[in-house]
Amino acid sequence: MTRVRQDRVQRVRAVVPTGAPKGPGSPADRILQLQRSVGNAAVGRAAQRRTLQRDLIVEGSLAQTHGLLLDHLAKAPNARRLFEYCKSQRKTTVRFRGRFDTRSEFGETMCHVTDNNGRVHDIDQPDTVDWNAVHQKSPIEITIFINVGFVFGQGEDAETLLHEIDVHALDYLQFIEQMRAAPDRRAIKGIWGRAARGTSSGERQHRRLAAGRQRRLTQDIGHVGQQIGLGQELEAAYKMDVEEHSDYL
Ligand SMILES: [Zn+2]
Repeated sequence: MTRVRQDRVQRVRAVVPTGAPKGPGSPADRILQLQRSVGNAAVGRAAQRRTLQRDLIVEGSLAQTHGLLLDHLAKAPNARRLFEYCKSQRKTTVRFRGRFDTRSEFGETMCHVTDNNGRVHDIDQPDTVDWNAVHQKSPIEITIFINVGFVFGQGEDAETLLHEIDVHALDYLQFIEQMRAAPDRRAIKGIWGRAARGTSSGERQHRRLAAGRQRRLTQDIGHVGQQIGLGQELEAAYKMDVEEHSDYL
């Protein structure tokens, strides 16, 4: 079953306009840097990696500012659950990656399980899984992609990261916790099916956001805004995010 997970975005913003100021630190310069880092990864040069803590990976394809923001976001009341869980559990990883997205999504969050045969399964696609090859401790990775084709301010960057964590990744975390505690394979199959049909449905997650009922996100935005002094920017980015998803209502 196809799941809507990508963030549909109607606005066009932040693409460097022709004739924009150039020079170090300018939007044009920043996008060039990002293009360079992503380009390098694309030609197979070893991607630079910064490991903040065990099982939290921030790839060099993501802007350095995102890495710095994540240090703060990892302390937000709800987002921290994801970081703490992955820190305490072996075989549960969160990976943040930058990528150029030619569609206009700001971010995308996915969750994959690796089975005993090394096959990787998207949890939103449970129909092809060999249930004899997965178990409670199968390795799981949540991957959060951030579209580095946009030039954002820090408030928007932080809101995009928080959206992916609070709106999407924490529902995957619920699946992971249940799967880790499952008594047998049959239970795993049931948990997996329920997640794909319900909890981790992008439609449902975005509808809740559009209705202003995504409390995890609003709480974390309030907390992070105070901590890094970007309250107004974060609030504005959140309001825009809610408006952009109004067609889910
Ligand atoms: Zn989303």
